[in-house]
Amino acid sequence: MRPLSGASLLSAWEQGQSQHPVDRALTLLAAGWPEASFEELAGLSIGRRDARLLALRRATFGEVLRGFVSCPVCAEALELELRTSELLLQDPEVDAGGDFTMTVDGRDLRFRLPDSRDLAAAAVCAGAEEASARIADRCFLATTTGDPPPAALTAALATAMAAADPQADLSLALRCAACAHEWSDALDVQGFFWSEIDAAAVRLLDDVDRLARVYGWSEAEILAMSPRRRRRYLELAGR
Ligand SMILES: [Zn+2]
Repeated sequence: MRPLSGASLLSAWEQGQSQHPVDRALTLLAAGWPEASFEELAGLSIGRRDARLLALRRATFGEVLRGFVSCPVCAEALELELRTSELLLQDPEVDAGGDFTMTVDGRDLRFRLPDSRDLAAAAVCAGAEEASARIADRCFLATTTGDPPPAALTAALATAMAAADPQADLSLALRCAACAHEWSDALDVQGFFWSEIDAAAVRLLDDVDRLARVYGWSEAEILAMSPRRRRRYLELAGR
């Protein structure tokens, strides 16, 4: 895995601007694992995709994730501090795929975990119900006892998928410091990482602009510098 450098971060940021979050996640993975094919990355289960995103995020921005969340009861803004080691449930480099079995009414049904292609197919559905049905339709595999009607089984399938791929659905236990309300919220790994990339890209372009004006260096030259060296030149430039 290759942490995002100034140049690769900006390039992923530029490409991801107009993309759907599902494609954006793949753009980030392609930047971190340039040797992997698109097929390979798109075929990762969502849990394995998110494990890789967490690992890439840690290598790029560090162990701690900081953010804010609003209490749903009193609207107090709460600062959130999470550690990657507590969120990472599996080795991001291990891609143990395979099929799974769930038992419903005494029948064994085989399924596979949804990947980015399945999410993309579900993203164009009209609503959540249709999206779940689309995922079920794609992820149920032929069974020896005949194919069941997926519609009746989508809820059971979602439960079985969550159990088989816990990294795909990170639930945070939250407590409001002001009113003591307790609730849980899902962590959107891709969305969180993207907002950090967006902020970092804006800062980086700001630095490039400043250094290019003062020293006349090209964007490529400035981005090739280590962050430490860039920071020092910014100090010398009076910032
Ligand atoms: Zn509150």
